[in-house]
Amino acid sequence: MKNDITGKLLARASQSSVFKMAVQSAFNHIIITDAKGKILFANQAVERITGYSHDEIIGNNPRLWGNVMNKTFYKNMWSTLVKKKSFTGEIQNKRKNGQLYYAKVIISPILDDEKTIIGFVGTEEDITMQKEIDKMKSEFISIAAHQLRTPLTSINWSMDILKDTSTGKLNTKQKDLLKDINNANQRLIGLVNMLLNISRIESGRFSVVPKMQSVPAIMQGMVKQLEPRVKEKQQKIAIKRQTGIPKMNVDGNMIAQVFQNILTNAIKYSPKGGKISVDMKVKGKFLLCSISDTGMGIPNHQQDRIFMKFFRADNAVKEEVGGNGLGLYFVNMIVEACKGTITFKSKEGEGTTFTVALPLTGMSDKEGEVRISLSQKDL
Ligand code: ADP
Repeated sequence: MKNDITGKLLARASQSSVFKMAVQSAFNHIIITDAKGKILFANQAVERITGYSHDEIIGNNPRLWGNVMNKTFYKNMWSTLVKKKSFTGEIQNKRKNGQLYYAKVIISPILDDEKTIIGFVGTEEDITMQKEIDKMKSEFISIAAHQLRTPLTSINWSMDILKDTSTGKLNTKQKDLLKDINNANQRLIGLVNMLLNISRIESGRFSVVPKMQSVPAIMQGMVKQLEPRVKEKQQKIAIKRQTGIPKMNVDGNMIAQVFQNILTNAIKYSPKGGKISVDMKVKGKFLLCSISDTGMGIPNHQQDRIFMKFFRADNAVKEEVGGNGLGLYFVNMIVEACKGTITFKSKEGEGTTFTVALPLTGMSDKEGEVRISLSQKDL
């Protein structure tokens, strides 16, 4: 009997030391703090990543390497944690030698039997290298897109000159060919502009320039711009807007891009004679903008991939509707940057409704190197 108990105790003791060894040697940074944030335990990775010694870390606060982000970030973090929820995010910290680094952080509250917070466990993964590679990729795309834009623009000019009768009259066949070249060129310009916008948003280099304005007016302007294509497809667009929608502090270019992409899709993926309806109303603290169509819809089994880069649903590819699968990826990122949400409902063969919810409080200024430019989506 005695041997049995000793055996169990020994097993427990060795289990706990194996557990401690494992945590100590984990590659990611792991800390345990008390409820006030005082560090009680830190594994070796914390020393490696932050550059502080064990003695400097224990008894201190994670502010030792933190305090780099703006106040709102830490406020959000604490408001999540005090609700006894885990906080996940990307954070910038500072090593002891002053070097800044990026980390993916997950902090979870430790609760006792009465569900009272008795401490926190935080893990961090140093993603500085990953960020650096992403930045390089984004810069590469941006440079390549800029380089591509110049010859594409000069093709445009040359075509304009050819169309001008002063260089000689074109016969019908030549005119048709020129039209095809022009369409292909416009598609390429659209793609290059989309790649540039995506690289601006992915790299965080974009600026946000909000101004008090009417969001329904932006929608109406976009509908007007797309009228020729709607007419060509003999479609009808009906706009419904609640009265008294307040002006909002938004970046017009960004919102216009969102509406343009969704409206273009509604036109593109709906048949001749299809109906498109736009509905705008305030609900709670948000302005809801819905765009519905009576088009081909999105197959149920592919709906979870719709916002992924380059994703195109099978039915769209099969029907040979042109596109590159970048529009919704881009739209989703813009809406996120506006602190809004985008959702959709769709039934294959019946139609689709996309709803963008924008906070009535609008957007905040953001400094950056470039604005999101208005570019035509491929129809
Ligand atoms: P693109 O239209 O250039 O292919 P998007 O990113 O805008 O790229 O859309 C991704 C895919 O989502 C489309 O290829 C299409 O399969 C589907 N999709 C988007 N909007 C609609 C819609 N209104 N109706 C049906 N399918 C849609």
